[in-house]
Parts: sequence; structure tokens; C-alpha cells
Amino acid sequence: VLEARGLTKKFGGLTAVKNLSFELHAGEIFGLIGPNGSGKSTAMKSLMGIERPTSGEVVFEGENIAGLPAHKIARKGFGMVFQHSRPLNRQTVLENIMVALLPDSLLALFHDKALAERAEAIAERVGLGAVMRRKPPTLPFADLRRLELAKAIARDPKVVLVDEPFAGLTLTEVGVFSDLIASFRDEGRAVLLVDHNVKSVAALVDRVLAMYLGEEICTGAAADVMKNETVRRVYLGGK
Ligand code: ATP
Ligand code: MG
Repeated sequence: VLEARGLTKKFGGLTAVKNLSFELHAGEIFGLIGPNGSGKSTAMKSLMGIERPTSGEVVFEGENIAGLPAHKIARKGFGMVFQHSRPLNRQTVLENIMVALLPDSLLALFHDKALAERAEAIAERVGLGAVMRRKPPTLPFADLRRLELAKAIARDPKVVLVDEPFAGLTLTEVGVFSDLIASFRDEGRAVLLVDHNVKSVAALVDRVLAMYLGEEICTGAAADVMKNETVRRVYLGGK
């Protein structure tokens, strides 16, 4: 569905992502792995148009979308779970999901019954059914992360980009989130999953690209990537 070709993003003199190439297939979870600062989030944002790639192509269904504004890319069928949540804190959980359903709409649409029903179904799906009339600042961290997942899949995207969904969650919560992400894949969506640890996503991903200082080290099955000499040296850190 989605292909990065020689994706490069520079911030001034710093090359955050260097000549990254990979293919993301429908019905697959593809892991993008690397320690802090390797360029994972920047790579993801470059795919979504939130950062404008310095060079390289992002080919989605045969079209180079690199450099298109984020809202145009989103409309083509992309959902993104940001590494850091930023909900509308004056709106309820339900209204936050409604905004994700209609990003171009006005707040008046909070009175739209049909839209509310769709948002409710999504809230239920991600386990927010019990808290959907509450406002984000009153929610525990894990529920804020659930809200991110809800917004990402709200518009039935073909591609879901998920940036460090497990950070700060308990083991039980990680299990629930893993199952949700697997269910996105099983519906035939292409999922790009960013994490800094190969081990923690090994069971979930179909393939993994390990990166370091903006560059690809190797790509393959998680078990093989974990055996790679360079991967072990630079960031499994002997663990
Ligand atoms: P983390 O695991 O901490 O989330 P990451 O792999 O997602 O790390 P990025 O956030 O993509 O890494 O950052 C890659 C490099 O690019 C870092 O050196 C970072 O400081 C730099 N960088 C990221 N965004 C910007 C920006 N907007 N302006 C300047 N430099 C940036
Ligand atoms: Mg990041």
C-alpha cells in the first residue's frame, strides 16, 4: 500500500532520517525500531506530511504523496497515533472522537446524532465506553492513549501509523493495546508500529526495520533482526 523510497529528512545540519526505504503491505504490522533519537517519529511524520521530507518519495497506491500537506494525506486514508497525546481538553472523550471523524467540521457537529453513534461505537471498541462522557484531563494515562487509538482509526484508514503506543502502560494494558493493534491489521489495514525496543513488539509485528542515527541497519523478521550483530551492539545494549 505504502512505500518509502530514499526518504530523507534534515533539520538544518542534522539528518534525522537518512535514505530510508521500505514497503508497508495491507494486512501487515511493520515495526520501525530504534533507540531514542534514531528518527522513528520523524520518519513517521514524513510519511504523513506532518514533516516535509527533504528528499525521497512516499508512494501511496501508486502516487507520490511526499510533500503533500498533512490534511490531504489524511483524507487519502491515513490514521496516526501520536507519541504524545494532545486531546481537546474542554471536550468529552466522545466529542474528541467525533472531531476525528470529521476533522474539517465545526463544533456544531457535536449535536449530530449519527456522528455521535459512530463515535460511540469506536469508543466502545477501544474500551472507552464507560468514560466517553468525561473530559480527557480527568482520565488515567492509559485511557488517553486509548483515545489516540480511537482517533487514528475513526475514519476507517487503510494505513495506521502508531508511534510508541506502549510507553508508560502496565503489562496488562500493553496486552490490550497489542490486541487492538493486531485487530487493525486483521481488518486488512497496513500498520506501521514505532517502538524503541525490538523485543517488546516481536510478537506483534510481521516484519521489522531497525534504524540507528537515521539509517536502516537491517529489515526482516523480528527474530532475525534481534540476532543482527549491529542491532545487538548499538541498542539491545547486551540486554
Ligand atoms: P524517540 O525514541 O525519543 O521518540 P525518535 O526515534 O522518534 O526518538 P525523532 O524524534 O524522529 O527520533 O528525532 C530524530 C532526530 O531529529 C533527533 O536528533 C531530534 O532531536 C531531531 N529532531 C526531531 N524533530 C526535530 C525538529 N522539529 N527540529 C529539529 N530537530 C528535530
Ligand atoms: Mg519518537
